[in-house]
Amino acid sequence: MMADIEIAAKWVAEARSVVVLTGAGMSAESSVPTFRDAQTGLWERFEPEHLATEDAFRADPSLVWTWYVWRSMLIDTAIPNAGHTAIGAWQKHLAVNNGSLTVATQNVDDLHERGGADDVLHLHGSLHNYRCLECSRPAAFDPRAAGIRAEREFDEDNILEPVACPHCATGILRPGVVWFGEMLPQDAFSSAIHALQQADLVLVVGTSGLVQPAASLPVIGQEAGAKLVEMNPVHTDLSNTADIYLKSTAAAMMPQLLDELLA
Ligand code: NAD
Ligand code: ZN
Repeated sequence: MMADIEIAAKWVAEARSVVVLTGAGMSAESSVPTFRDAQTGLWERFEPEHLATEDAFRADPSLVWTWYVWRSMLIDTAIPNAGHTAIGAWQKHLAVNNGSLTVATQNVDDLHERGGADDVLHLHGSLHNYRCLECSRPAAFDPRAAGIRAEREFDEDNILEPVACPHCATGILRPGVVWFGEMLPQDAFSSAIHALQQADLVLVVGTSGLVQPAASLPVIGQEAGAKLVEMNPVHTDLSNTADIYLKSTAAAMMPQLLDELLA
């Protein structure tokens, strides 16, 4: 009998149209804490759904702003892990072999891009884009100049003032991420669905699958005929639905999965 990893590697070798769906676990081995990991200290007292909302930002803009600036700093100093670079190499391999690979991520970091992937669909926006909370116009902001250090623990004693919008009199800047209750960027979301409808293989890496509508994407691919493979060290609601569940981490398992293909 073939082991699951061998069957999955065979599917990888055969697939011409691939979608890779990723979540916070993808970046965990680049030292960016996942949302579950991040619920320490101050954030133990908040449900993520009550933190990552416009209401939460309006209720305490300094605190929420500082938390995002801190996450930007962590991402800035993070480097892509072996999982990111394997996905980038796989995409290039398919591009020169009459295939295609679409990366659609819930992550607001740029580690897929720095790991060599192109045209990444950012379903939940990007931490590197800022816009005004009131007039919505984009504005430049450099988190490195804000005085927050890229330390593993969020420092509750160093809280920033919100930054005024350069365009209007009343607004402050907010991060360009999708908060709970907000629409996903429609072009990224519809491109992901389009890719899933063409896919012969869908690989889901490092997401708890608890946040809709992103959590509904894997099954859209599977129902359209794709093989569905999940990679996560912890069992999720998707693990039983997936055709193969690989119980491992992104940086450990992605290179193994692509070993033969990219050899
Ligand atoms: P998550 O933290 O809910 O889940 C991370 C998953 O990754 C877990 O299932 C975990 O087992 C897995 N994992 C951990 N280490 C891994 C590794 N090394 N390799 C592979 N998998 C690993 O993250 P999510 O599913 O991406 O969350 C979805 C969305 O929730 C986020 O995109 C975000 O928009 C939203 N959210 C935001 C906030 C916030 O901004 N404050 C808080 C919570 C959730
Ligand atoms: Zn403004």
